[in-house]
Amino acid sequence: TGGSSRPFRVVLLGARGVGKSAIASIFAGAADSMDSDECELYGDEVCEQTITVDGEKATATLVDNWDSEDEGGSSQDQCIQTGDAYLLVYSITDRSSFLQASELRISLRQRRPAHHTPIILVGNKCDLVRRREVSVTEGRACAAVFDCKFIETSAAMQHNVWPAFHGIVQQLRLRRDTK
Ligand code: GDP
Ligand code: MG
Repeated sequence: TGGSSRPFRVVLLGARGVGKSAIASIFAGAADSMDSDECELYGDEVCEQTITVDGEKATATLVDNWDSEDEGGSSQDQCIQTGDAYLLVYSITDRSSFLQASELRISLRQRRPAHHTPIILVGNKCDLVRRREVSVTEGRACAAVFDCKFIETSAAMQHNVWPAFHGIVQQLRLRRDTK
């Protein structure tokens, strides 16, 4: 179904330093891209890749230009308005980034109210076990309250990052197929 549709636009959101760009660089280095062995870049912070999910190709554009300092600014607004799906990233070593993720979830709901927007809450840096400030249980509970999926990743160890991308594509397809 729908192999010729436009690329999905997946936006990385989250506090500074949580690992958004580290996650984006894993996406940019995707080895299973059939069309090119390097990421096609449109500007510095946007990357398009064709990946295979459940045996079906999907083209996704990953956007990594969230500016957490630009509170309520136009660049933030554009980020939120133009995404088809969101990876809401915090660091398990930084409780304030977890609280920021909750705030972002609320502002997504306010600014994109009519949509059943695919969102995954991503607890990154799970390799840093001794610096953990947010438990798996808390992350999962927060995702349940906010009605989104949850995954813990380590960009440094390349752990669970692809399952997060695949999960967002699966959610996008579900949404497309039920529309
Ligand atoms: P951004 O501001 O959200 O884009 O965060 P960056 O991707 O620039 O990462 C901030 C810092 O955290 C960098 O020093 C990264 O190397 C480090 N980092 C990112 N992801 C991980 C991770 O999963 N584990 C560890 N240990 N460090 C990470
Ligand atoms: Mg960055």
